[in-house]
Amino acid sequence: MSHVLAAVAWPYANGPRHIGHVSGFGVPSDVFARYMRMAGHDVLMVSGTDEHGTPIQVQADAEGVTPRELADRYNRVIAEDLRALGLSYDLFTRTTTRNHYAVVQELFQGLHRNGYIVPKVTTGAISPSTGRTLPDRYIEGTCPICGYDSARGDQCDNCGNQLDPVDLIDPKSKINGETPKFVETEHFFLDLPALADVLRQWLDTREGWRPNVLRFSKNLLDDLQPRAITRDLEWGVPIPLDGWRDRGDKRIYVWFDAVIGYLSASIEWARRTGDPEAWRKWWSADGEGKDARGYYFMGKDNIVFHSVIWPALLSGYSGEGTNDGEPGELGRLNLPTEVVSSEYLTIEGRKFSSSRKVVIYVRDFLERYDADALRYFIAAAGPESNDTDFTWAEFLRRNNDELVAGWGNLVNRSVSMAAKNFGAIPPVDPAGLTEADEALLATARVGFTTVGDLIARHRQKQAIGEAMKVVAEANKYLSEQAPWKLKDEADKPRMGTILHVALQVVSDANTLLTPFLPHSAQKIHELLGGTGVHAPMPVMEEVDDLDGGPAYPVLTGDYTVGARWESVPVQAGRALAAPKPVFRKLDPSIVEEELARLAG
Ligand SMILES: [Zn+2]
Repeated sequence: MSHVLAAVAWPYANGPRHIGHVSGFGVPSDVFARYMRMAGHDVLMVSGTDEHGTPIQVQADAEGVTPRELADRYNRVIAEDLRALGLSYDLFTRTTTRNHYAVVQELFQGLHRNGYIVPKVTTGAISPSTGRTLPDRYIEGTCPICGYDSARGDQCDNCGNQLDPVDLIDPKSKINGETPKFVETEHFFLDLPALADVLRQWLDTREGWRPNVLRFSKNLLDDLQPRAITRDLEWGVPIPLDGWRDRGDKRIYVWFDAVIGYLSASIEWARRTGDPEAWRKWWSADGEGKDARGYYFMGKDNIVFHSVIWPALLSGYSGEGTNDGEPGELGRLNLPTEVVSSEYLTIEGRKFSSSRKVVIYVRDFLERYDADALRYFIAAAGPESNDTDFTWAEFLRRNNDELVAGWGNLVNRSVSMAAKNFGAIPPVDPAGLTEADEALLATARVGFTTVGDLIARHRQKQAIGEAMKVVAEANKYLSEQAPWKLKDEADKPRMGTILHVALQVVSDANTLLTPFLPHSAQKIHELLGGTGVHAPMPVMEEVDDLDGGPAYPVLTGDYTVGARWESVPVQAGRALAAPKPVFRKLDPSIVEEELARLAG
């Protein structure tokens, strides 16, 4: 047994999340965490909503609400969607808690003390009407290189050159059209070059990463520059230094605070369990956490924050860059074991875009379809290591041909035939098992090794494929053995043996599929006469801020209960009722309906 941290990307609280988001960070991290728990590891799965930064400020201004009010709204919407998907967070919190502020400030101070955060005067764009920093991408103007009239402050989409907003001809704010003012302003920078060596040594020792993620991460080290970590903005974590703490106009910027959420959420979780030091078992690089492993799940646009920025913050805080230093009061902290990044999901050949309404929100999806139908699609056909297209036709096919006609049919015919002929799980005939019986049982048993190993190595597509192979073998076995033909009284013991074997394999396959399909796994467990929790589910709770801030909802759960990753012998004589179908067959007309909805 070991301590395993499942650190899941923090969704930005400026709107509801769509199915592309949850296929990148949500479902894969939950499959992994559920499997690791079932295999006996001590898993801590944390995340929350990312709530600071200019986009939330801008949107709140446009709606005439405060940034906190906007964040409150979408924190709740997002948490509810993730709960409905069955994502088993030990704690899903948010970045506006006082605990988070305190942990962010502690890391800032530790890095500053060790010399990895340095002040610098730069020229920055501000909005003359609000005095706030205008981030590069909120500035538009004519490209000084090619003359394109809608170049962004950070780059020109026409000629592809990186730009500096001060060089744009006739720059304008995209927020309100005013001309930005370029002023000298003092900000704090993270000294990334001083951490490049320690990052390179760490990346050189990484094993088992997806090759593209490791290559991309190493390439980022070739050109590390000091990076600004504060902004002229009121919405964010205050800078914890004398002379800065009480300034209303300067804040730590969102990317710096959000990555620290993994640590602050772990600390919040520990404080809420009544054992405030318990987080160290997953984080302390010395002592009890030194053998812990940490896996970080995200979409590929976030790799830089997890394979460069976050390990840089952890190393600098621990005093491990070329400036040396001493660890802060949290001690030396573990760097990620692996950064597990997925690729992009497109929809019907197009990029997701909330503004252009090319989108399927999680909530809308779950109003019409079951959570496990989406989880199945993501696991079997999601963007694990290639950009992947979601089409309604493929969703329909996967649901009807694989989930319903494959897995659902196996469960349904095994349980109903046994219920009808025996009223219970039949015993094995004293004559014993045939070679075909033994072969099928062995196939299912081997699945625990192959499927488990694949999930542990983040090959979920292959893993669910192996589990579905067990299902296909069992369906083939039933067709070949044809227990429905064994109607004579003399044949009944053999019929019972076949159904016993089939139900054992249903039980095993159900365990193999539990990390992927937890909702239906619970139902199938009950169809087989099982009681109690098989696949634990997250709950949403309203909690008080631990340090006196406003109350908020969190996702949490008791995941110490539930199935283990092992074959459990089915009990002959256990009563069975006629089953209700576990999965819903979808009418082909949904494809046209959904395409019409997308077309708006
Ligand atoms: Zn250009």
